[in-house]
Amino acid sequence: MENSSDRWLEIDIDAIKHNLEQVNSLLEEKVRLIAVIKADAYGHGAVETARILYQNGVDFFGVSFLEEAITLRRAGIRSSIMLFSPLINEQQVTEALTNYITITIASLYECILLDKISRRLNIKTTVHLKVDTGLGRFGLNHEEIIEVCQTLKDNPCIYIEGIYTHMAEAASHNPAYTQKQFTRFLSIIDKLKEAGYTIPVCHCANSAVFLNYPEMHLNAVRIGTLISGQLPVGKFNNNLDLIDPYKYKSRIISLRTLEKGSYLGYNRTERLKQQAQIAVIPVGYNHGLALQVANRPNGWGDFLKVLTKNILSFFQLFRFRLKVKINDCEYPVRGKVFMQMTLVEIPVEARVKIGDEVEVPVRKTLAARKLNRIYIKDGEPCKIEEQEKITYIVEEDS
Ligand SMILES: *Cc1c(COP(=O)(O)O)cnc(C)c1O
Repeated sequence: MENSSDRWLEIDIDAIKHNLEQVNSLLEEKVRLIAVIKADAYGHGAVETARILYQNGVDFFGVSFLEEAITLRRAGIRSSIMLFSPLINEQQVTEALTNYITITIASLYECILLDKISRRLNIKTTVHLKVDTGLGRFGLNHEEIIEVCQTLKDNPCIYIEGIYTHMAEAASHNPAYTQKQFTRFLSIIDKLKEAGYTIPVCHCANSAVFLNYPEMHLNAVRIGTLISGQLPVGKFNNNLDLIDPYKYKSRIISLRTLEKGSYLGYNRTERLKQQAQIAVIPVGYNHGLALQVANRPNGWGDFLKVLTKNILSFFQLFRFRLKVKINDCEYPVRGKVFMQMTLVEIPVEARVKIGDEVEVPVRKTLAARKLNRIYIKDGEPCKIEEQEKITYIVEEDS
């Protein structure tokens, strides 16, 4: 494959299609799929992933931020695009309205802002109301939601299409909290009905809820992780057969044979036990290699696991070491990962050479942005068909 760069991503289109089919296989006819393609489609490229999914029947996308939604519109994606996070000022609301983005209302503040600006611009928009049932992020409570419905009911520009909530621990062994959140969600929907507001699309399922709680699919599900080829971290009753579409690739830029006893890397944390070829790969922590998301451990079990791994690895008893793949063989990373380089130990007899492709385990959500992505179909690079660009004619208020 002709490619001058030393670092690039390969994204397998067939794998994305396969994962979509797997998700669809668990989806009842009446349930809509909202494909979540935030964070650049979890590292696979938002625009390209949207095109692939759209060409395979997905007509509803979800993203976190306005910039993400606008990028999709500019690329000609005509499907519904739902924004999860709040719009906080007039300029943002105007941009969302003029690009026909499906807007979330998660507070009275957003409600009043949207009410005012949509009336002034006289642009019709679709909204989903967000309820907080226990995640503690965005959302209305059961009193505010009635107030929002009352505020918006006489606004001819606003169509309340949906209501949703987000679950805090659906991948856990214990279903109690998820069920509690679900009960709260249903009771809010009931309360709205009693007050005369029936909202057609109700949704609360991300990937974990989708797998573990089929009874919570309601009218729509919001799925990102599964389409990107991974199971969420946790326990699942319903294991799908998923394929990771993503490979981070680089090349060997130096290859030397070093003698037994040679030290490797800063602080000499490792020493060769035998003569070996040492390859340098131009990927380091600055590119996202060996980085971890530093979160508080999830309970004592998790804490002990992390602690034990660190203790064992200090004494070199356990190696949760990184491996790279060259010509379908795995080789271990040696020494500390540098800012922009990594050392790999390869047995003297292995036939590798400078310029050989290397698959590097950079996690897709940690990989530096702006890498060249190559889309692969049937094992060959492939151009994704573009959508025709959209030009809107927005009627100005006279
Ligand atoms: C990210 C996100 C999802 C998708 O979650 P996955 O677990 O990746 O499927 C759904 N809803 C909201 C609000 C999100 O932010």
